Amino acid sequence: SAGKVLMATVKGDFHDIGKNIVGVVLSCNGFEVTDMGVMVPCDKILAAAKEKGADIIGLSGLITPSLDEMMHVASEMEKAGMNTPLLIGGATTSAAHTAIKIAPHYPSGSVVHVLDASRSVPVTTSLLSEEANSFRADNEALHIKMREKFGGGTKKPVISLEDAQSKAFTCDWKDQEIAIPSWLGVRSFASNTADSTIQVEKRPSKDEDERFSASLEELIEYIDWSPFFHSWELRGVWDSEKKILKTRNTAGAEEAAKLYVEAQDMLKRIIAEDRFEAKGCYGFFPANAVGDDIEIFSDESRTEVIAKFCTLRQQIEKKSDKPNYALADFVAPKGSGRADYLGGFVVGIHGADEFAKELDEKENDPYLAIMVKAIADRFAEAFAELLHHRARTDWCYETEAQLTKDQLIHENYRGIRPAPGYPSQPDHTEKETLFKLLDAEKRTGVYLTESCAMHPGSAVSGIYFSHPESKYFMVSDIQQDQLEDYAKRKEMDLEVIAKWLGPWLG
Ligand code: SAH
Repeated sequence: SAGKVLMATVKGDFHDIGKNIVGVVLSCNGFEVTDMGVMVPCDKILAAAKEKGADIIGLSGLITPSLDEMMHVASEMEKAGMNTPLLIGGATTSAAHTAIKIAPHYPSGSVVHVLDASRSVPVTTSLLSEEANSFRADNEALHIKMREKFGGGTKKPVISLEDAQSKAFTCDWKDQEIAIPSWLGVRSFASNTADSTIQVEKRPSKDEDERFSASLEELIEYIDWSPFFHSWELRGVWDSEKKILKTRNTAGAEEAAKLYVEAQDMLKRIIAEDRFEAKGCYGFFPANAVGDDIEIFSDESRTEVIAKFCTLRQQIEKKSDKPNYALADFVAPKGSGRADYLGGFVVGIHGADEFAKELDEKENDPYLAIMVKAIADRFAEAFAELLHHRARTDWCYETEAQLTKDQLIHENYRGIRPAPGYPSQPDHTEKETLFKLLDAEKRTGVYLTESCAMHPGSAVSGIYFSHPESKYFMVSDIQQDQLEDYAKRKEMDLEVIAKWLGPWLG
């Protein structure tokens, strides 16, 4: 053995495609890999490291709350008197965060950010080689440089919340065209196992019934393949007509072509063996903005508030007359006297973990197990795209055949579906409000972990905005004044919400 590596996706997080790829790559290079799976609490990781005599520990995570959990594991390793090198990887991790926030908790051991699976072998090899000391010293020097850059760097100019609010995006609400949904409330879908048809739970009429059923094959048409290749660390853009990955890396393009053929085989197998169940729901509600919040009403009388989405506003100083956006800006304010609407959705693909486990353990094929999970992610995103397509037609501002599938995949349409926890609304806890409003857990079987990660991992949720000028943006450098205001609006302790928004605070 080239060395013993222990890997885990941290507590509260489910995502493991990247970690599993690293596991395969390390195994192929002679390392003895113990993969503890997902949602692994810190004490279990430490106990297993001791029991197995791990030479290296690797932590992975997808969502921002996992960054905090990684800090926790690092500090527990320090407390336990360990010095085993700690590798950090996953979508939201970065070299800067590793240097500034994680490494200081574990001065006795090396903490190394691993950008992608291809780096895992050289890093692991170096850490266990005779040159380990110089590798560690280089890593430490890099961390010091990053901390200095962060600490000494010129801070971006920011403005107060009040000033930012005065620069909110606005429009002429008096004359603004507002789309009215053809129905209000929530509708559910569940794929019918007999004919793999996604059908609506409540069928309002025969006509609607036609419109609300879709086969898994139809879902396939909504798949955006580029991110599929990215999950295999093949960069580029997929040309769905020519079936080639547009990339300067010729070897990568060849691999992509092979991977695509194998993915098609797996898609067929998934459908033939009835492996996946797609469940989703979406709804429309009367809504109005109140300050930076969006109030949701029980009905058109707009008297009873049944939910409140809190949004966060950009506080970066902008040179021109560009607005300081918050999502609430895209909904008519209560004072405007206009009736507006907000939508929401949750979709999940069930069965991928079970199928992957079977392939990994019974058929001993970790490659196909990863393939299944990558495809399940594609199905979930495709389902979100399909549902958003329906939502826009139900919202009566887009016709069904107005846009091509390619235009849909590239989101060339009016309206957005920001996901709570992502740049326009970085607070993952807003998912709790969304799930409650839609009764999503009951309808879709998708539930939230303590970190507000969704289970199954192949799930997507978001809020629908229909405003013609609605767009995605990024909220960063949140200041203390907004943090305090937000904590009050959310009725949460300042420390608690600060923890949730950690990476986004100024
Ligand atoms: N076609 C892609 C879709 C996912 S990425 C795929 O198959 O993977 C695009 C989605 O990410 C958007 O629809 C939105 O839900 C989310 N998103 C993008 N930018 C965002 C932002 N700034 N804030 C919140 N959500 C965002």
